[in-house]
Amino acid sequence: MTARIIDGKAFAQTVREGVARDVAALAATHSVKPGLAVIIVGYDPASQVYVRNKVKQTAEVGMNGFHFELPEDTAEADLISKVKELNGDPAVNGILVQLPLPKHINEAAVVGAIAPAKDVDGLHVVNTGLLASSGGGMVPCTPLGCILMLKDTLGDLTGKKALVIGRSILVGKPVAQLLLSENCTVTIAHSRTKNLAGEVAAADIVVAAVGIPEMVKGDWVKPGATVIDVGINRVPAPERGEGKTRLVGDVEFAAASKRAGAITPVPGGVGPMTIACLLKNTVTATCKQHNIDL
Ligand code: NDP
Repeated sequence: MTARIIDGKAFAQTVREGVARDVAALAATHSVKPGLAVIIVGYDPASQVYVRNKVKQTAEVGMNGFHFELPEDTAEADLISKVKELNGDPAVNGILVQLPLPKHINEAAVVGAIAPAKDVDGLHVVNTGLLASSGGGMVPCTPLGCILMLKDTLGDLTGKKALVIGRSILVGKPVAQLLLSENCTVTIAHSRTKNLAGEVAAADIVVAAVGIPEMVKGDWVKPGATVIDVGINRVPAPERGEGKTRLVGDVEFAAASKRAGAITPVPGGVGPMTIACLLKNTVTATCKQHNIDL
């Protein structure tokens, strides 16, 4: 079997087009323009690239973007007062503080200061609590992207055996909660899991969010399974020249794509969906704040 390659870039484009239509409809019917504020502290180059992409894509879908670059030595109290100022700004419907923050700042305190209704990253405890209970809060972007791709690939997920590898607050746990709400039978694996190969072999759906290059071996994958590879790992690529690198996922892609029914590549799979879902969440937040049912 050769797997269908799930094209995250094309799917993210489709999601962004839907967001742009919603933004246009909000302007036409309610004179409302969603606004997304992004705060970055310090000079981490990867975060800078990511934030630039967010700002660009926010403009492309017709939203207002507010971009704040704060110096590396910003005090936690000053960052929190910036967040609180944005909480009170009616032109701002979504607030994202780019993580990781410099070591002297307590991330939980900053995320906790964001108004839950504007927490488009879905990391505030009110939103993680809602996800674990009744639902209805803001859903973290990367996990939302994983579920949208799975539903687009498989349709109804009811009754599927799903394995999530990784239990982080950012990815693993919310993906597992979302799969549960889609009526999957969910197993969560982590660094203490015994017989990971056996768990993978039993799963109809595998979501790998570990951060170890190609640790999920292709021959573990159940024939026909759907594999969502969240991992982004930079590894040496001497075949491309001295000092060159390339990105790989947490799944051994070449071997897994010979057994899986469908699989996301790295790069070009889950990655592009994250910003698209951030924009989607900003529209959702805007509608809730204005009591609009689009
Ligand atoms: P974390 O480091 O926070 O979590 C990693 C998880 O993997 C932990 O739960 C850990 O278990 C588990 N783990 C570690 N070793 C093993 C092992 N040998 N077997 C099974 N599980 C193991 O990472 P994140 O969740 O933040 O990110 C995971 C990956 O996803 C990274 O590569 C990251 O770059 C990528 N990522 C990609 C995004 C995108 O947009 N595509 C967005 C966010 C992340 P334990 O809890 O026991 O330590």
